[in-house]
Amino acid sequence: MGISEGNFKANDYRPRSDVSEDKDGRRFGWFTMAHEIGHAMGLMDEYQESLEEDNATNLPHGGVWAPILPIFDQPFIDGRPYPWDEISMMNTNKAPRLRHFWHYARWMNQTNGVKNLTGNTVFHVEYSSQNFKYSLSDSMTNFYEPVYSQDDMKRSGYAKIDLRLYKIGEDESTKIAIPGQSNIDGVLVVRSKLQWFFDDYSSYRWQNIEQKLQYLKDFQTTINNRMNVNGKFYLECPSDSDFKKVFVFFSPHYYFEGSTIHDHFEISVKANGGSSINFQPPFYADGYDDDEFEVDALQNKISIYRYVLGMLPYRMSGTNKVANEDITLSDLNFLVTWINSKRGRSYQLRQG
Ligand SMILES: [Zn+2]
Repeated sequence: MGISEGNFKANDYRPRSDVSEDKDGRRFGWFTMAHEIGHAMGLMDEYQESLEEDNATNLPHGGVWAPILPIFDQPFIDGRPYPWDEISMMNTNKAPRLRHFWHYARWMNQTNGVKNLTGNTVFHVEYSSQNFKYSLSDSMTNFYEPVYSQDDMKRSGYAKIDLRLYKIGEDESTKIAIPGQSNIDGVLVVRSKLQWFFDDYSSYRWQNIEQKLQYLKDFQTTINNRMNVNGKFYLECPSDSDFKKVFVFFSPHYYFEGSTIHDHFEISVKANGGSSINFQPPFYADGYDDDEFEVDALQNKISIYRYVLGMLPYRMSGTNKVANEDITLSDLNFLVTWINSKRGRSYQLRQG
């Protein structure tokens, strides 16, 4: 909208027809004005910003922001603990969550004039039919700010990982995080900042930017399906009243070609228009520990992600090294070690 044609449009103030059903059976349409009023009252975007290159010019056949390829520098808040709650009002402009009302309760609880008026009543946000009572302690009152944060944590001598632990409290998102699990009250974001390059190889050429972006979207979808959707991972410590169950959200971030010094890894992907791998990855070599590496376009993407997380990317098949195509609980013990050190407790890593 510009000032000369800035009329209210029906799509902005009226729910659109693309309705989603929430876990409680209620249905929500896309409602831009609710999202924008959320901003006006202090809420932040919960989705991640995708690459500038992720646009309709580069993707004429569709797929723009589907999936999102998060940029390194997310505006206003980095880390972003909520993008997996896909129908949240501050994500896709749909369902309100109890946390979206929390700042009103917090203001009443912390403002002396209000406390005098209400006899020091302590307020929370409640959705009684779903048994949700939303409240955050004074020391963890901002669910957008990590309680613990570490950049560039080193693993296996070469891998760097950013970790952010957020206190999110129990609301409708809690039920969505891991189906069948209650009491989820925290999110651990595992961020890898990956800069990508695309090389021609043998007789194969990258055809256009669309093909390169599609490769990245396939990578993101693979990580999402294995790590965040199927068999979701969580950390549990029933005796920790602040973080009883923590959903682990794996979030690669992307930088498309160009130049940056803020990456954890530089990955060059070699074109392959055939059906079998032509280029054996150097990370299969014993002791390989470079943060710049090359892979065939057909290299198993979980094996690439394993290397990025400081795990061996291969397994032995007889005397041959082949791609390790899975990540299991025992691979992720470093997350247990990390949260134990932050909380002074003993956590278990589990799979939903
Ligand atoms: Zn917004």
